[in-house]
Amino acid sequence: MSENGINENGIIDLLVIGAGASGMTAAIVFQKTLLSERKPLGNVVILEKNDRVGKKVMVTGNGRCNLSNKDMSLSHFHCHVEEFPEKAISLVPQQQVLAFLGEIGIVTTYEENKLFPMSKTAASVVDAFRFALDDFDIKVVPNAEVEEVSKDSESKLFQVTCADKSTYSAKKLLIACGGACAPYTGTTGDGYKFLSMLGHKVYAPKPSIVQLVTENYVTKALSGLKLDCDLTLLCEDFVVANQFGEVLFTDYGLSGPAVLQVSGEVSRRTRKGRLSMPMKVSLKLFNDPTIMNIREDIYARREEFSDRPLDQLLLSILPQKIGSMLIRTALDRPMSMPVSALTDGDIEKIISTMRSWEFDVIGTKGLESAQTTIGGADCEEFSPKSMQSRIVPGLYATGEVLDVDGDCGGYNLTWAFTSGILAGSHSAKKSDIYQQKAGEPDGN
Ligand SMILES: Cc1cc2nc3c(=O)[nH]c(=O)nc-3n(C[C@H](O)[C@H](O)[C@H](O)COP(=O)(O)OP(=O)(O)OC[C@H]3O[C@@H](n4cnc5c(N)ncnc54)[C@H](O)[C@@H]3O)c2cc1C
Repeated sequence: MSENGINENGIIDLLVIGAGASGMTAAIVFQKTLLSERKPLGNVVILEKNDRVGKKVMVTGNGRCNLSNKDMSLSHFHCHVEEFPEKAISLVPQQQVLAFLGEIGIVTTYEENKLFPMSKTAASVVDAFRFALDDFDIKVVPNAEVEEVSKDSESKLFQVTCADKSTYSAKKLLIACGGACAPYTGTTGDGYKFLSMLGHKVYAPKPSIVQLVTENYVTKALSGLKLDCDLTLLCEDFVVANQFGEVLFTDYGLSGPAVLQVSGEVSRRTRKGRLSMPMKVSLKLFNDPTIMNIREDIYARREEFSDRPLDQLLLSILPQKIGSMLIRTALDRPMSMPVSALTDGDIEKIISTMRSWEFDVIGTKGLESAQTTIGGADCEEFSPKSMQSRIVPGLYATGEVLDVDGDCGGYNLTWAFTSGILAGSHSAKKSDIYQQKAGEPDGN
């Protein structure tokens, strides 16, 4: 046994850094690929800095784990090299991802377009992975925080050193450390450092699926209130994204599913935390026919409820606080003014605000609040067929550490599984065990 108890000579066939969604997938697929060819299982080790596997998976989908989505349009995936996720997804169609999840015992169900485990609990997904790691004899080393990685030019082995000074030697190395968001789950951007150490270019990480910071006197006053509306994101008055859904007003700005979904477009236009161009969120509170009915209603109310104060004008059309704040934003008039004093022009301004209630965007909340990371290792330098480095043979990267981010709706886990399947199967096929010849050169 070696110092770290791995095997006789201490050399690992596949060493994975990070027991997250993509790392665990790759490790399991590595072993399954060998078994499918009736080869013996490999010596596969996962180093995880947390005391347990899948800490981030546990918090996904509000603890329900949104695994994937019926709508697999490629527009839901973002990368500086557009063809990269496109090619990878064409090689591992969603059916293959679902089959893999089924094979490790995850039964799934759809809720509208979103795929969840039938239990609707992320913990059961983590448990399924845990049992599969065990079934396939994959050694997980918890509390193993990797600090350094290198490749020895003579032996061609990867050398990995942890914070406790334990060392590991491996024929193949997979960096599956995730991105830089939600650092409380263990993802603090270490993977970028390791890939840079090995000569890779990394795009600076930015937050996505994150709340927006806006000019906030209105949102602060309405903090905690929600509305279903049609959200349009504008950059210098050009529409860059549109999303129907719930919007939540907060102390700092706007949150809720519709806001999280478009937030990446704000991040992509941000440098060092500052917007490079002016951006606005416009909320349309009702559809056009409804707004026309409300308009007629307001003209009628001016006569019927003429003595009521202005801040009651939208009573029962909108929640009181929101209605009152909308009128305040539209008009420079005292709220105690009687409804009868409204001019036609005032009414048209209220209607126009209802159609487009604008909020100046200042930026996004930070990586600590985000659900995924924009940026990461440059995909030009990896093969989309295998996730193998084009610079360092035997080196792989999967999941969020790569410069691929998905929209909200299960796309990031789908990417983690897809890239994990490709890396696991390719690294197994290129292993000495599969080829039954030692020292076979690696290829892409
Ligand atoms: C709150 C929240 C909710 C989300 N909900 C969803 C959802 O419902 N659906 C969806 O598709 N996506 C969701 N995501 C995104 C998704 O979880 C990630 O994109 C996905 O888990 C990334 O997989 P990964 O394998 O790249 O890394 P991760 O799953 O993040 O795993 C990386 C692992 O590497 C370990 N690690 C890091 N550095 C080191 C080191 N130096 N040494 C050893 N180990 C290290 C980390 O501790 C971690 O366990 C959510 C994210 C968050 C934060």
